[in-house]
Amino acid sequence: MLKEQLEDVEKRIQAACDRSGRRREDVTLIAVSKTKPVSTLQEAYDLGIRVFGENKVQELTEKYEALPKDIHWHMIGHLQTNKVKYIVDKVDLIHSVDSLRLAETIEKEAEKHNCHANILLEVNVAEEESKFGLKTNEVIPLVEKIAYLPHITVRGLMTIAPFVDNPEKNRTIFADLQKLYVDIKKKNIDNVNVSILSMGMTNDFEVAIEEGATMVRIGTAIFGARNYNI
Ligand SMILES: *Cc1c(COP(=O)(O)O)cnc(C)c1O
Repeated sequence: MLKEQLEDVEKRIQAACDRSGRRREDVTLIAVSKTKPVSTLQEAYDLGIRVFGENKVQELTEKYEALPKDIHWHMIGHLQTNKVKYIVDKVDLIHSVDSLRLAETIEKEAEKHNCHANILLEVNVAEEESKFGLKTNEVIPLVEKIAYLPHITVRGLMTIAPFVDNPEKNRTIFADLQKLYVDIKKKNIDNVNVSILSMGMTNDFEVAIEEGATMVRIGTAIFGARNYNI
């Protein structure tokens, strides 16, 4: 079942790339494995998946210990400053930085662990009350501040679009994030090297790819529905 679902997602990513004149290799699939057991991740690994996204620090570190070391781990969930130390040297990318305080903590812990942290700034493009993330107009000032921190680099932007019945409703949100991304690139800020646009989930990843996503975070379409009660 996992194999078929992965193949289906892969086909849909390819089709969205074809429709928008983009190359498949310019879009990274992050398999969002939160709540799924290690055995399921191992199964995905055996099918060739090497990039996994998790949203909880403890779950990520447990899976990190249990699974092969050539996996690339992405922290996609809200991150508390007191937990940065557990993951800073284990993840390739933190998708969810939304304050200077969190960036400064990542800087401090990266220095301590003798590593370099790659981050995305999470933008709440739709300004939903219930969501974390920066407002659009807060992004460039924060990028300029983080640029001074030597152990952390802003690689791009991330958004979680609203849950909608029709993914077309999120198209302008993805387009707006892409515009902001281009604005940051144009500013050529020292120590800022943006090349990543993390947007699109099970319900809307095709539209996100059409609007320029370079990373899609897909859980349900690969692993099936999550059960939070176990
Ligand atoms: C859970 C989660 C996803 C994946 O969601 P699906 O709808 O299951 O594809 C993507 N991004 C973030 C930040 C998540 O927390």
